[in-house]
Amino acid sequence: MRCGKMAAPAAGTRGGVRRRCQRLLYWVPVLFISSILCWSYYAYVTQLCLLVCLIAYHLFFMLFVWSYWKTIFTLPMNPSKEFHLSYADKELLEREPRGETQQEIFRRAAKDLPIYTRTMSGAIRYCDRCQLVKPDRCHHCSVCDKCILKMDHHCPWVNNCVGFSNYKFFLLFLAYSLLYCLFIAATDLQYFIKFWTNGLPDTQAKFHIMFLFFAAAMFSVSLSSLFGYHCWLVSKNKSTLEAFRAPIFRHGTDKNGFSLGFSKNLRQVFGDEKKYWLLPVFTSLGDGCSFPTCLVNQDPEQVSTPVGLNSTTKNENHLFPPKTLRDSQSHLLTDTQSWTESSANTEKGKVVPKGMSNPGLTVENET
Ligand SMILES: [Zn+2]
Ligand SMILES: [Zn+2]
Repeated sequence: MRCGKMAAPAAGTRGGVRRRCQRLLYWVPVLFISSILCWSYYAYVTQLCLLVCLIAYHLFFMLFVWSYWKTIFTLPMNPSKEFHLSYADKELLEREPRGETQQEIFRRAAKDLPIYTRTMSGAIRYCDRCQLVKPDRCHHCSVCDKCILKMDHHCPWVNNCVGFSNYKFFLLFLAYSLLYCLFIAATDLQYFIKFWTNGLPDTQAKFHIMFLFFAAAMFSVSLSSLFGYHCWLVSKNKSTLEAFRAPIFRHGTDKNGFSLGFSKNLRQVFGDEKKYWLLPVFTSLGDGCSFPTCLVNQDPEQVSTPVGLNSTTKNENHLFPPKTLRDSQSHLLTDTQSWTESSANTEKGKVVPKGMSNPGLTVENET
């Protein structure tokens, strides 16, 4: 892979310049929102100047800016190093990029990892670009060119990936920007009506009052639908990507595979301590690499319940794999290996065709 990158230096430089220009362009939506925010501050505080409302206004303004800032500048989390292929495995993969060897490499890399989801064909999810076994709910973002933990979507309005590290901030950003717009629209309404009935003195404030109302009303409509959608996603413990394509587990597709019930789903994103729920500080539960699911115990391939795991979790009904996952993985590994061994006898040297294979064996590159 390293050799591949160095093969075309000239094209690389040109591509680098284009990439830098592209990266600058990505900031345009953020600048757009920021300038609207500045202008609305100016228009509201200096032109409208409702003294009684100014305290409430500044509270919403501050929370809006704070959560927006945190959504933009919180770096997305990438899979930890145990998900990456070892140097020796990468070398091996370069020499033999397909067939049995490739599958063997991925199988070995995944055997100690807390992964329960698979690709459409039931193979282990692997990222070609980052050369790693993808953790559950992790996806490769083509804009960031990285694998992002619990990726929700890449948002141009924050020029950042929304994922495990900043999903709470993103939700609060939606909530506070909606409150901000609704507050402006509500307090500006009477002046807006006066504008149309010629009840306002003929100053430049007139136009600010009119546009302030238009902008606030317009953003309120789009934000409320987006915020409503994300509230639904949180209540079901789904990411936007998972809402479009349900996660696939060892036993098959399950659109509610990560759902633990409303209250627990909420806590997954906002944390256990209610006093932090409304503040843009990181309180989400877990490490972003493994997620509790109520499906593992129902998995027909997994006969016994790994007792050691349940003791590590706060809730009794759901499996929350611990970081190292030795226990559960030896359990997963037993399944995989026993199957591998038997398959080696029956299908020696054959590459099992996609879609017809046992989930334990086939490995597919999913980018
Ligand atoms: Zn990747
Ligand atoms: Zn991204």
